[in-house]
Amino acid sequence: MSQTIQPQPGIMDIALYEAGSAHVAGVAEAVKLSSNENPFGPSPKARDAVIRAAHAMHRYPSTDHTALRQAIGKVHGLDPDRIICGVGSDEIIHFLCQAYAGPGTEVLFTEHGFLMYPISARAAGATPVTARERERTTDIDALIAAATPATRLIFVANPNNPTGTMVELAELERLARAVPQAILVIDAAYAEYAGDDYDGGAGLATDLPNVFMTRTFSKIYGLGGLRVGWGYGPREIIDVLNRIRGPFNLSSLALDGALAAMQDREHVERSRSENARLRAWLAAALAERGVPSDASHANFVLARFEGPETAGAADAALKAEGVIVRRVGGYGLPDCLRITIGDEASCRRVAHVLGRFMAERGTAAVGQRA
Ligand SMILES: *Cc1c(COP(=O)(O)O)cnc(C)c1O
Repeated sequence: MSQTIQPQPGIMDIALYEAGSAHVAGVAEAVKLSSNENPFGPSPKARDAVIRAAHAMHRYPSTDHTALRQAIGKVHGLDPDRIICGVGSDEIIHFLCQAYAGPGTEVLFTEHGFLMYPISARAAGATPVTARERERTTDIDALIAAATPATRLIFVANPNNPTGTMVELAELERLARAVPQAILVIDAAYAEYAGDDYDGGAGLATDLPNVFMTRTFSKIYGLGGLRVGWGYGPREIIDVLNRIRGPFNLSSLALDGALAAMQDREHVERSRSENARLRAWLAAALAERGVPSDASHANFVLARFEGPETAGAADAALKAEGVIVRRVGGYGLPDCLRITIGDEASCRRVAHVLGRFMAERGTAAVGQRA
Protein backbone atom coordinates (compact mmCIF):
# COMPACT_ATOMS: atom_id res chain seq x y z
CA MET A 1 0.00 0.00 0.00
CA SER A 2 1.42 3.37 -0.95
CA GLN A 3 1.27 6.21 1.50
CA THR A 4 0.79 9.69 0.08
CA ILE A 5 3.85 11.77 0.74
CA GLN A 6 2.76 15.25 1.78
CA PRO A 7 4.33 18.43 0.37
CA GLN A 8 5.53 21.32 2.55
CA PRO A 9 2.84 23.33 4.40
CA GLY A 10 1.21 25.97 2.22
CA ILE A 11 1.75 24.22 -1.11
CA MET A 12 -1.73 22.66 -1.29
CA ASP A 13 -3.27 26.10 -0.50
CA ILE A 14 -1.93 27.46 -3.78
CA ALA A 15 -4.67 28.15 -6.33
CA LEU A 16 -3.37 27.34 -9.82
CA TYR A 17 -2.63 30.45 -11.88
CA GLU A 18 -5.14 30.92 -14.67
CA ALA A 19 -3.63 32.46 -17.78
CA GLY A 20 -5.67 34.62 -20.14
CA SER A 21 -7.41 32.37 -22.64
CA ALA A 22 -6.23 32.41 -26.24
CA HIS A 23 -9.02 30.74 -28.22
CA VAL A 24 -12.77 30.94 -28.77
CA ALA A 25 -14.52 27.77 -29.93
CA GLY A 26 -15.63 28.17 -33.54
CA VAL A 27 -13.69 31.39 -34.16
CA ALA A 28 -10.59 31.06 -36.35
CA GLU A 29 -9.17 34.58 -36.02
CA ALA A 30 -9.83 35.58 -32.42
CA VAL A 31 -8.34 38.83 -31.11
CA LYS A 32 -6.49 38.06 -27.87
CA LEU A 33 -6.71 40.98 -25.46
CA SER A 34 -6.46 38.92 -22.28
CA SER A 35 -2.76 38.86 -21.37
CA ASN A 36 -1.45 42.41 -21.85
CA GLU A 37 0.77 41.39 -24.76
CA ASN A 38 2.27 43.91 -27.16
CA PRO A 39 0.04 43.92 -30.30
CA PHE A 40 3.07 44.84 -32.44
CA GLY A 41 4.92 41.72 -31.33
CA PRO A 42 8.65 41.60 -30.63
CA SER A 43 11.31 43.76 -32.23
CA PRO A 44 12.40 42.16 -35.55
CA LYS A 45 15.95 42.53 -34.24
CA ALA A 46 15.07 40.33 -31.25
CA ARG A 47 13.52 37.73 -33.53
CA ASP A 48 16.66 37.69 -35.73
CA ALA A 49 18.91 37.36 -32.67
CA VAL A 50 16.93 34.34 -31.44
CA ILE A 51 17.21 32.68 -34.86
CA ARG A 52 20.98 33.33 -34.91
CA ALA A 53 21.32 31.94 -31.38
CA ALA A 54 19.58 28.73 -32.47
CA HIS A 55 22.68 27.81 -34.48
CA ALA A 56 24.70 27.52 -31.28
CA MET A 57 22.15 26.00 -28.96
CA HIS A 58 24.25 22.92 -28.32
CA ARG A 59 26.34 25.23 -26.09
CA TYR A 60 25.41 26.04 -22.51
CA PRO A 61 24.45 29.67 -21.99
CA SER A 62 26.21 32.32 -19.93
CA THR A 63 25.72 31.86 -16.20
CA ASP A 64 26.33 35.47 -15.17
CA HIS A 65 24.32 37.19 -17.94
CA THR A 66 27.00 39.88 -18.20
CA ALA A 67 26.12 41.09 -21.72
CA LEU A 68 22.41 41.44 -20.97
CA ARG A 69 22.99 43.10 -17.59
CA GLN A 70 25.38 45.59 -19.21
CA ALA A 71 22.86 46.43 -21.93
CA ILE A 72 20.11 46.95 -19.34
CA GLY A 73 22.46 49.04 -17.20
CA LYS A 74 23.39 51.24 -20.15
CA VAL A 75 19.78 51.93 -21.20
CA HIS A 76 18.54 52.58 -17.67
CA GLY A 77 21.68 54.21 -16.23
CA LEU A 78 22.06 51.50 -13.58
CA ASP A 79 25.03 49.57 -12.18
CA PRO A 80 24.98 46.12 -13.90
CA ASP A 81 26.37 44.56 -10.70
CA ARG A 82 23.09 45.41 -9.01
CA ILE A 83 20.96 43.66 -11.67
CA ILE A 84 19.77 40.04 -11.68
CA CYS A 85 18.01 38.34 -14.62
CA GLY A 86 15.33 35.69 -14.31
CA VAL A 87 12.86 33.53 -16.19
CA GLY A 88 10.33 36.33 -16.35
CA SER A 89 9.93 38.66 -13.41
CA ASP A 90 7.87 35.78 -12.00
CA GLU A 91 11.13 34.03 -11.19
CA ILE A 92 12.54 37.13 -9.47
CA ILE A 93 9.37 37.32 -7.35
CA HIS A 94 9.85 33.65 -6.56
CA PHE A 95 13.53 34.15 -5.59
CA LEU A 96 12.55 37.00 -3.26
CA CYS A 97 9.95 34.85 -1.47
CA GLN A 98 12.25 31.81 -1.27
CA ALA A 99 15.09 33.89 0.12
CA TYR A 100 13.29 36.25 2.48
CA ALA A 101 9.94 34.69 3.42
CA GLY A 102 9.09 31.38 5.06
CA PRO A 103 6.98 29.79 7.80
CA GLY A 104 6.02 32.33 10.45
CA THR A 105 6.57 35.33 8.19
CA GLU A 106 4.14 37.47 6.22
CA VAL A 107 4.14 38.70 2.63
CA LEU A 108 2.02 41.81 2.16
CA PHE A 109 0.33 43.15 -0.98
CA THR A 110 -2.86 44.96 -1.94
CA GLU A 111 -6.31 43.40 -2.33
CA HIS A 112 -6.28 43.59 -6.13
CA GLY A 113 -2.59 42.71 -6.38
CA PHE A 114 -0.95 40.38 -8.91
CA LEU A 115 -1.82 36.69 -8.31
CA MET A 116 1.82 35.59 -8.41
CA TYR A 117 2.43 37.24 -5.00
CA PRO A 118 0.25 34.81 -2.97
CA ILE A 119 1.43 31.87 -5.09
CA SER A 120 5.11 32.57 -4.41
CA ALA A 121 4.45 33.47 -0.76
CA ARG A 122 2.67 30.18 -0.13
CA ALA A 123 5.31 28.22 -2.05
CA ALA A 124 7.82 29.56 0.49
CA GLY A 125 5.54 28.60 3.40
CA ALA A 126 4.82 32.23 4.28
CA THR A 127 1.44 33.78 5.05
CA PRO A 128 0.01 36.09 2.36
CA VAL A 129 -1.65 39.22 3.82
CA THR A 130 -3.69 41.74 1.86
CA ALA A 131 -4.31 45.43 2.51
CA ARG A 132 -7.37 47.26 1.25
CA GLU A 133 -7.14 49.57 -1.74
CA ARG A 134 -8.96 52.86 -2.07
CA GLU A 135 -11.02 53.21 -5.25
CA ARG A 136 -8.98 50.45 -6.91
CA THR A 137 -5.75 52.27 -6.07
CA THR A 138 -2.88 51.26 -3.75
CA ASP A 139 -3.45 52.77 -0.31
CA ILE A 140 -0.08 53.36 1.38
CA ASP A 141 -1.63 54.00 4.81
CA ALA A 142 -3.52 50.70 4.62
CA LEU A 143 -0.27 48.87 3.76
CA ILE A 144 1.56 50.53 6.66
CA ALA A 145 -1.31 49.60 9.01
CA ALA A 146 -1.29 45.97 7.79
CA ALA A 147 2.47 45.52 8.30
CA THR A 148 3.61 43.62 11.41
CA PRO A 149 7.01 42.64 12.82
CA ALA A 150 6.60 39.40 10.80
CA THR A 151 6.30 41.23 7.45
CA ARG A 152 9.31 40.41 5.26
CA LEU A 153 8.20 41.49 1.79
CA ILE A 154 5.72 44.05 0.47
CA PHE A 155 4.81 43.78 -3.21
CA VAL A 156 3.38 46.84 -4.93
CA ALA A 157 2.82 46.68 -8.67
CA ASN A 158 3.07 50.27 -9.92
CA PRO A 159 1.19 50.66 -12.24
CA ASN A 160 -0.92 47.86 -10.82
CA ASN A 161 -2.40 44.94 -12.73
CA PRO A 162 -5.39 44.57 -13.18
CA THR A 163 -6.42 48.09 -12.11
CA GLY A 164 -3.96 50.15 -14.22
CA THR A 165 -3.73 52.77 -11.48
CA MET A 166 -0.51 53.95 -9.83
CA VAL A 167 0.81 55.93 -6.87
CA GLU A 168 3.57 58.55 -6.63
CA LEU A 169 7.17 57.54 -5.93
CA ALA A 170 7.10 59.79 -2.85
CA GLU A 171 4.31 57.59 -1.48
CA LEU A 172 6.35 54.43 -2.10
CA GLU A 173 9.30 56.04 -0.35
CA ARG A 174 7.06 56.84 2.62
CA LEU A 175 6.03 53.16 2.76
CA ALA A 176 9.62 51.87 2.60
CA ARG A 177 10.72 54.19 5.39
CA ALA A 178 7.72 53.29 7.57
CA VAL A 179 8.34 49.54 7.29
CA PRO A 180 12.13 49.06 7.58
CA GLN A 181 11.74 45.41 8.65
CA ALA A 182 10.51 44.50 5.14
CA ILE A 183 11.78 44.76 1.57
CA LEU A 184 9.45 46.87 -0.57
CA VAL A 185 9.36 45.26 -4.01
CA ILE A 186 8.18 47.69 -6.67
CA ASP A 187 6.88 45.54 -9.53
CA ALA A 188 7.33 47.85 -12.50
CA ALA A 189 6.23 45.46 -15.26
CA TYR A 190 4.29 48.31 -16.92
CA ALA A 191 6.70 51.17 -16.13
CA GLU A 192 7.44 52.01 -19.78
CA TYR A 193 3.75 52.62 -20.44
CA ALA A 194 3.47 55.08 -17.55
CA GLY A 195 5.71 57.62 -19.29
CA ASP A 196 9.29 58.83 -19.50
CA ASP A 197 9.33 60.61 -16.15
CA TYR A 198 8.67 57.36 -14.23
CA ASP A 199 11.78 55.28 -13.46
CA GLY A 200 9.85 52.32 -12.03
CA GLY A 201 11.33 52.93 -8.61
CA ALA A 202 14.96 52.56 -9.76
CA GLY A 203 15.99 55.72 -7.90
CA LEU A 204 14.48 54.46 -4.64
CA ALA A 205 16.11 51.05 -5.15
CA THR A 206 19.44 52.85 -5.63
CA ASP A 207 19.15 54.91 -2.46
CA LEU A 208 17.26 52.82 0.10
CA PRO A 209 18.48 49.54 1.65
CA ASN A 210 14.99 47.96 1.58
CA VAL A 211 13.66 48.80 -1.88
CA PHE A 212 13.91 46.42 -4.84
CA MET A 213 12.53 46.87 -8.37
CA THR A 214 11.40 44.16 -10.82
CA ARG A 215 11.02 44.62 -14.59
CA THR A 216 10.04 42.41 -17.50
CA PHE A 217 10.57 41.80 -21.21
CA SER A 218 7.05 40.30 -21.42
CA LYS A 219 5.06 43.51 -21.87
CA ILE A 220 6.38 46.45 -23.92
CA TYR A 221 9.24 44.36 -25.36
CA GLY A 222 6.73 41.81 -26.66
CA LEU A 223 8.72 38.78 -25.44
CA GLY A 224 6.23 37.05 -23.13
CA GLY A 225 6.96 33.72 -24.79
CA LEU A 226 10.71 34.01 -24.29
CA ARG A 227 10.45 34.43 -20.48
CA VAL A 228 12.93 37.10 -19.40
CA GLY A 229 12.68 39.54 -16.51
CA TRP A 230 15.10 41.35 -14.24
CA GLY A 231 15.48 42.87 -10.82
CA TYR A 232 17.52 45.79 -9.49
CA GLY A 233 18.35 46.75 -5.96
CA PRO A 234 20.87 46.76 -3.13
CA ARG A 235 23.99 44.69 -3.78
CA GLU A 236 23.32 42.61 -0.65
CA ILE A 237 19.92 41.50 -1.96
CA ILE A 238 21.35 40.69 -5.43
CA ASP A 239 24.01 38.55 -3.74
CA VAL A 240 21.35 36.64 -1.78
CA LEU A 241 19.14 36.03 -4.83
CA ASN A 242 22.08 34.85 -6.96
CA ARG A 243 22.73 32.06 -4.45
CA ILE A 244 19.36 30.45 -5.18
CA ARG A 245 19.28 31.25 -8.91
CA GLY A 246 19.93 28.25 -11.14
CA PRO A 247 23.26 28.78 -12.93
CA PHE A 248 21.63 28.30 -16.36
CA ASN A 249 18.20 29.78 -15.62
CA LEU A 250 18.11 31.72 -18.90
CA SER A 251 18.65 29.98 -22.24
CA SER A 252 21.06 31.39 -24.82
CA LEU A 253 18.04 32.16 -27.04
CA ALA A 254 16.39 34.14 -24.25
CA LEU A 255 19.59 36.03 -23.42
CA ASP A 256 20.34 37.01 -27.02
CA GLY A 257 16.73 37.88 -27.82
CA ALA A 258 16.35 40.09 -24.76
CA LEU A 259 19.67 41.83 -25.44
CA ALA A 260 18.61 42.76 -28.98
CA ALA A 261 15.18 43.86 -27.73
CA MET A 262 16.70 46.11 -25.07
CA GLN A 263 18.87 47.81 -27.71
CA ASP A 264 15.98 48.47 -30.10
CA ARG A 265 14.73 51.67 -28.49
CA GLU A 266 12.73 52.65 -31.57
CA HIS A 267 10.45 49.62 -31.16
CA VAL A 268 9.90 50.44 -27.50
CA GLU A 269 9.13 54.10 -28.25
CA ARG A 270 6.70 53.23 -31.03
CA SER A 271 4.93 50.70 -28.79
CA ARG A 272 4.74 53.25 -25.98
CA SER A 273 3.33 56.09 -28.07
CA GLU A 274 0.81 53.92 -29.92
CA ASN A 275 -0.39 52.48 -26.61
CA ALA A 276 -0.81 55.95 -25.11
CA ARG A 277 -2.81 57.14 -28.11
CA LEU A 278 -5.08 54.08 -28.32
CA ARG A 279 -5.50 53.82 -24.53
CA ALA A 280 -6.87 57.37 -24.43
CA TRP A 281 -9.08 56.67 -27.44
CA LEU A 282 -10.51 53.42 -26.04
CA ALA A 283 -11.13 54.80 -22.54
CA ALA A 284 -13.02 57.77 -24.02
CA ALA A 285 -14.96 55.57 -26.46
CA LEU A 286 -16.03 53.23 -23.65
CA ALA A 287 -16.99 56.11 -21.35
CA GLU A 288 -19.16 57.56 -24.13
CA ARG A 289 -20.94 54.21 -24.35
CA GLY A 290 -21.59 54.08 -20.61
CA VAL A 291 -18.60 51.94 -19.58
CA PRO A 292 -16.32 53.78 -17.13
CA SER A 293 -12.71 52.92 -16.30
CA ASP A 294 -10.03 54.36 -14.02
CA ALA A 295 -7.22 56.40 -15.59
CA SER A 296 -4.84 53.67 -16.76
CA HIS A 297 -1.05 54.01 -16.77
CA ALA A 298 -0.51 50.60 -18.36
CA ASN A 299 -1.36 48.77 -21.62
CA PHE A 300 -4.88 47.82 -20.62
CA VAL A 301 -8.04 49.39 -19.26
CA LEU A 302 -10.22 47.99 -16.50
CA ALA A 303 -13.78 48.40 -17.78
CA ARG A 304 -16.45 48.57 -15.05
CA PHE A 305 -20.02 47.32 -15.36
CA GLU A 306 -22.99 47.57 -13.02
CA GLY A 307 -22.46 44.08 -11.60
CA PRO A 308 -20.91 40.65 -12.13
CA GLU A 309 -23.81 39.51 -14.27
CA THR A 310 -23.43 42.45 -16.69
CA ALA A 311 -19.66 41.97 -16.80
CA GLY A 312 -20.21 38.30 -17.67
CA ALA A 313 -22.73 39.18 -20.39
CA ALA A 314 -20.35 41.80 -21.84
CA ASP A 315 -17.57 39.19 -21.85
CA ALA A 316 -19.88 36.77 -23.70
CA ALA A 317 -20.84 39.46 -26.24
CA LEU A 318 -17.14 40.14 -26.93
CA LYS A 319 -16.37 36.45 -27.20
CA ALA A 320 -19.20 35.96 -29.70
CA GLU A 321 -17.40 38.51 -31.89
CA GLY A 322 -14.06 36.77 -31.45
CA VAL A 323 -12.64 39.20 -28.86
CA ILE A 324 -11.03 37.62 -25.80
CA VAL A 325 -10.63 39.81 -22.71
CA ARG A 326 -9.92 38.94 -19.09
CA ARG A 327 -12.50 38.39 -16.36
CA VAL A 328 -10.96 39.48 -13.08
CA GLY A 329 -13.19 37.94 -10.40
CA GLY A 330 -10.07 36.12 -9.18
CA TYR A 331 -8.62 39.55 -8.42
CA GLY A 332 -11.69 40.54 -6.39
CA LEU A 333 -13.12 42.57 -9.27
CA PRO A 334 -16.12 40.56 -10.55
CA ASP A 335 -17.81 43.70 -11.98
CA CYS A 336 -14.89 44.39 -14.28
CA LEU A 337 -13.22 43.21 -17.47
CA ARG A 338 -9.54 43.86 -18.13
CA ILE A 339 -9.03 44.74 -21.77
CA THR A 340 -5.54 44.88 -23.27
CA ILE A 341 -4.88 47.80 -25.63
CA GLY A 342 -4.52 46.04 -28.97
CA ASP A 343 -3.90 47.60 -32.36
CA GLU A 344 -6.29 50.21 -33.72
CA ALA A 345 -8.61 47.70 -35.41
CA SER A 346 -8.92 45.69 -32.18
CA CYS A 347 -9.70 48.79 -30.11
CA ARG A 348 -12.40 49.81 -32.58
CA ARG A 349 -13.87 46.33 -32.47
CA VAL A 350 -14.06 46.41 -28.65
CA ALA A 351 -15.73 49.84 -28.68
CA HIS A 352 -18.18 48.73 -31.36
CA VAL A 353 -19.20 45.47 -29.64
CA LEU A 354 -19.52 47.04 -26.18
CA GLY A 355 -21.41 50.03 -27.61
CA ARG A 356 -23.97 47.70 -29.16
CA PHE A 357 -24.07 45.62 -25.96
CA MET A 358 -24.77 48.65 -23.77
CA ALA A 359 -27.41 49.99 -26.17
CA GLU A 360 -29.23 46.64 -26.17
CA ARG A 361 -29.03 46.46 -22.37
CA GLY A 362 -30.37 49.99 -22.08
CA THR A 363 -33.35 49.17 -24.30
CA ALA A 364 -34.02 45.98 -22.34
CA ALA A 365 -33.87 47.85 -19.02
CA VAL A 366 -36.30 50.50 -20.28
CA GLY A 367 -38.58 47.72 -21.57
CA GLN A 368 -38.58 46.07 -18.15
CA ARG A 369 -39.47 49.31 -16.39
CA ALA A 370 -42.40 50.02 -18.77
C1 LIG B 1 2.80 40.62 -16.60
C2 LIG B 1 3.25 40.96 -15.22
C3 LIG B 1 4.52 40.63 -14.79
C4 LIG B 1 5.49 39.97 -15.73
O1 LIG B 1 5.63 38.64 -15.53
P1 LIG B 1 6.75 37.89 -16.38
O2 LIG B 1 7.04 36.71 -15.53
O3 LIG B 1 7.92 38.80 -16.48
O4 LIG B 1 6.17 37.55 -17.69
C5 LIG B 1 4.90 40.96 -13.52
N1 LIG B 1 4.07 41.63 -12.70
C6 LIG B 1 2.85 42.01 -13.09
C7 LIG B 1 2.01 42.79 -12.17
C8 LIG B 1 2.40 41.67 -14.36
O5 LIG B 1 1.18 42.02 -14.74
